[in-house]
Amino acid sequence: MGFSTDAIHAGQIPDPTTGAISTPIYQTSTYAQEELGVNKGFEYGRTHNLTRQALEINIATLEKGKYGIAFSSGLASIQAILGLMKNGDHTVVSNNVYGGTYRLMELIMKEYGLDFSWVDTSDTKNIENAIKKNTKIIYIETPTNPMLNLTDIEATAKICKANKLICVVDNTFMSPYFQRPLGLGADVVLHSTTKYINGHCDVVGGMIITNDFKIHERIKYLQNAIGAVPSPFDCWLTLRATKTLAVRMKQHNANAIKIAEYLSTKFYAKKVIYPGLKSHPQHELAKKQMSGFGGMISVDFGSLDNAKKIINNLKIFTLAESLGGVESLVSHPASMTHASVPKVEREKFGLTDGLIRFSVGIEDAEDLIADIEQALK
Ligand SMILES: *Cc1c(COP(=O)(O)O)cnc(C)c1O
Repeated sequence: MGFSTDAIHAGQIPDPTTGAISTPIYQTSTYAQEELGVNKGFEYGRTHNLTRQALEINIATLEKGKYGIAFSSGLASIQAILGLMKNGDHTVVSNNVYGGTYRLMELIMKEYGLDFSWVDTSDTKNIENAIKKNTKIIYIETPTNPMLNLTDIEATAKICKANKLICVVDNTFMSPYFQRPLGLGADVVLHSTTKYINGHCDVVGGMIITNDFKIHERIKYLQNAIGAVPSPFDCWLTLRATKTLAVRMKQHNANAIKIAEYLSTKFYAKKVIYPGLKSHPQHELAKKQMSGFGGMISVDFGSLDNAKKIINNLKIFTLAESLGGVESLVSHPASMTHASVPKVEREKFGLTDGLIRFSVGIEDAEDLIADIEQALK
């Protein structure tokens, strides 16, 4: 089936009791058992929930994966992935990952005996060089936030195969509409469904997708054992959202291309970073492994003062953390998402005080451009 057909139908059968087209919200913590040892396969809400199951099948299908396992947040799903490791194991990680991923790995799980190497995975040679005897996982995020650096997924997966390592890809920025890592050889895909997949800034959630039965079994076990499961209502909202994922992603992409091109002509925009621009150093790789470029644009306006003025004057773009929603947002990574990274470290990879990150929504492109135009003035 095509992407949109799957998005609307996969995992969602009309309710057998009433024929309801919309998957019901099974808002229950437990289930009546027929007699001792006999039940309908549903025992307890943490372990089994049909609304959640529908969402898991739905998103797994969109990623062309066999198994989906839902979590209460993107970070909860990353925590579950770390449960594939044991004390003393090592992971190689992209050095420019989501800040919360860094915090969970380096500041929390390291104290529990897991080891991490942070490397620039945009050059896969760095991955190979960082592999040790105790390495278990290669964990990449592509494109990264906010510098939009790419990592070659296929090349990374090949390195993993050759070294018997698990290849994990955080696919939050592209969504399965524009990038499907399993097809490029990755073993595990994860999402903060909070972002594009849900896309309406009203749910926090996570998802892990894999084709590997052993990995699935372990993650499924952890989902129940740790208990960071999403609520039935959040699953229902996310399921409702995936129905429009294709149309939303197309619009995010079309708007972002227009805005990136517009900004490239502006004197104040010292550097416009967008994988869809020919000026992006990895534009060719973007075309190879993604079928669109997404809705995230980062722009260096030269100074903190300029960045402040522009952000304060934007009217449609709202100053906020997070991304991937239908409404356009703007953020200042140096003082918001990446404030914990020391200035010298930040500037090494181009994250200057003048950098603004736009999460381009699906409003009319003309209005968004007019908003930026008046803010630049
Ligand atoms: C937001 C985000 C996460 C964390 O997800 P939450 O749902 O906020 O827990 C992980 N990775 C990326 C790329 C993100 O943008």
